[in-house]
Amino acid sequence: MSPTSLRLEELQNRDRELKARLTQLGEMRPGSLVQRYRKCGKPNCHCARRGDRGHGPMWMVTHAVEGKTVSKAIPSGPAVERTRDQIAEYQRFRELARELVVTNEQICDTRLEESPRTSGSENKKNGIGGGDGHRGGAGGRGSAGRRGR
Ligand SMILES: [Zn+2]
Repeated sequence: MSPTSLRLEELQNRDRELKARLTQLGEMRPGSLVQRYRKCGKPNCHCARRGDRGHGPMWMVTHAVEGKTVSKAIPSGPAVERTRDQIAEYQRFRELARELVVTNEQICDTRLEESPRTSGSENKKNGIGGGDGHRGGAGGRGSAGRRGR
């Protein structure tokens, strides 16, 4: 096998593995968990005093949506821990998705390299497919730019 097809096989294995891991993800939610204190507004309450941080802490998930921060109250208790797990799961999703995109881009690059139409001005890889006839195809320079890990 040529180095290119070995590399392609390796990348395809990685692709399958990442997709399998994606299907195993649990509940996820974007955002971050923060603690908030709030003033209830009653003039006689301790929270009306200067320097009092107010009632709380209350847990919130904040999440930027189209530039605006959206907050969601999380009741104290087991929901806080669950939310923490859901947020961590979302981070795993992001990481997997990122790796999947990188891997697939590499697969696409490898396909370009093995394509017989690529006349390989950089790689000088003859012998794949036939026909030396097509020199100077649309290959272009810099197409092999972002390889490696
Ligand atoms: Zn109060």
